Amino acid sequence: MKTEKTLSILKPDATRRNITGKINAKIEAAGLRIIAQKRLHLSLAQAQAFYAIHAERAFFGELCQFMISGPVVVQVLQGEDAVAKYRDIMGATNPANAKEGTIRQEFAESIEANSVHGSDSAENAANEIAYFFSDLEIVG
Ligand code: ADP
Ligand code: MG
Repeated sequence: MKTEKTLSILKPDATRRNITGKINAKIEAAGLRIIAQKRLHLSLAQAQAFYAIHAERAFFGELCQFMISGPVVVQVLQGEDAVAKYRDIMGATNPANAKEGTIRQEFAESIEANSVHGSDSAENAANEIAYFFSDLEIVG
């Protein structure tokens, strides 16, 4: 077991429905600590840069428009195996396939408006955290 950090985003569908606290409660109940957090309204350029790895996918344009449709909450989570643990409690990308008790099964509206983002590897986590936070803003 190793202590890791991962980057989480509570997406615009979550801020719109005022359920960020409910999602944070599930994050904390899983043993992950929110060691940095801020609310942002992304610009189109920021959303496109963040999701650049998906630039060739058919849903890229719509995904970026969705991500700028309202505020997001960006977070750094820390805990044992935080990258895999958060992916686990997020649930599958498509909420129709997400396991009982996961964030997406409970809260997601659709495959696109699926309430949360979580890094998919330790390497991507480090890059995504650095995209949004300075070291001064991360308080473990
Ligand atoms: P995950 O967020 O589970 O890592 P991906 O990295 O594959 O999923 O996709 C990034 C985001 O793009 C998803 O969380 C979702 O918001 C959106 N997305 C993924 N697949 C689709 C799709 N088929 N149609 C619309 N939006 C999608
Ligand atoms: Mg992903």
